[in-house]
Amino acid sequence: MATHPITQAIRIQIDRTPEMEHSAPLFLTSSFCFDNAEDMRAAFADETDDNIYSRFSNPNVQELVDKICALEGAEAGYATASGMSAVFGSFMALLKQGDHLLSCEAVFGSTHAVISKYLPKYGIDYSYLPATATEEAWRAAIRPNTKMIYLETPTNPGLEILDVEMISRVAHEKGVIVNVDNCFATPILQQPIALGADLVVHSATKWLDGQGRVLGGVIVGKKELIKEIYLFCRSTGPALSPFNAWILSKSIETLEVRMERHSASALHIAQQLENHPAIASLRYPFLASHPQVAIAQKQMTSGGGILCFDLKGGLEAGKKFLNQLQMLSLTANLGDTRSIASHPASTTHAKLSEAERQAVNITPGLIRISVGLEKVDDILADILQALAAVD
Ligand SMILES: *Cc1c(COP(=O)(O)O)cnc(C)c1O
Repeated sequence: MATHPITQAIRIQIDRTPEMEHSAPLFLTSSFCFDNAEDMRAAFADETDDNIYSRFSNPNVQELVDKICALEGAEAGYATASGMSAVFGSFMALLKQGDHLLSCEAVFGSTHAVISKYLPKYGIDYSYLPATATEEAWRAAIRPNTKMIYLETPTNPGLEILDVEMISRVAHEKGVIVNVDNCFATPILQQPIALGADLVVHSATKWLDGQGRVLGGVIVGKKELIKEIYLFCRSTGPALSPFNAWILSKSIETLEVRMERHSASALHIAQQLENHPAIASLRYPFLASHPQVAIAQKQMTSGGGILCFDLKGGLEAGKKFLNQLQMLSLTANLGDTRSIASHPASTTHAKLSEAERQAVNITPGLIRISVGLEKVDDILADILQALAAVD
């Protein structure tokens, strides 16, 4: 029976055990048994896909991977202990000394550290383009040794939008792998593989769990690339815990309804705040005022749960705004049922220089809001009363 990917992601499940359970059981086991030496030999020789050891594979982890593959339209995948181990594994399995990685300067902070601080230690070169780079600029930036283009869209926290279809087309002219961090959009709002990407990485910690409980990461994409990533990860050990996989797999069953609500509430809040006197500028991918709204509307079905705005009062106003909030949480996460406010200039990006912050659009007064599932009027009321205090 041909069913919609979202239906598949809800119904995909580990084979039922003789207990006839409805919800998937939790396979908390480090290793798996064999009936005899011959079966064990065959499993180790990759002649069967029997589970051997939970660093390699585990039923709960595979169930999660199968669901993400269905949603992303991917051939294969591997799940990791965090989003960063997914990003790192996808680099280290496929890049070698002498290769060049091309990326956009607006990437997640830890990803920036991996690219600019650690990859060069292994002889892997990198360069960055601005998020607004043209097709010509992307083409010109590809070097003979460029092996991978790595993108994040929408970017964290600046909400820049990159054209996945255009960049993939340019990359494939030169045989370059395209790897997209789809954390902010989730496969509900954007499917990079359908737009031409070869690999998709996720921090499952964010919207995929959506309830702020566990860390996790997933890499999905072309079978031959995932095979390399699997072999690298099975030896180096960033495996996802079966317990976290069990949590995340259940979360996927509600992903579509959650993302629809997060997006609708975020759009409403963005519209209500756009002309607020305390706000110098506001960004949300689906607002007409977003500089890349046309690309956002081409590749996403809605704008997602994050919006950001720049307070006229700068750094001090940013801190004051956080202190005035009564309901929104001050916490270093996003993509939760509970709304979260953060002020990158005084927290996550405080160690960067002013110039480095400017390069990724992090102004002193930038506030990022992760819109939760509370009633939208309550979220808006808390933001408005905090804004009134800084005005
Ligand atoms: C949080 C995040 C990551 C890293 O994920 P972890 O699960 O925290 O390791 C990577 N990319 C983006 C866009 C993120 O927001």
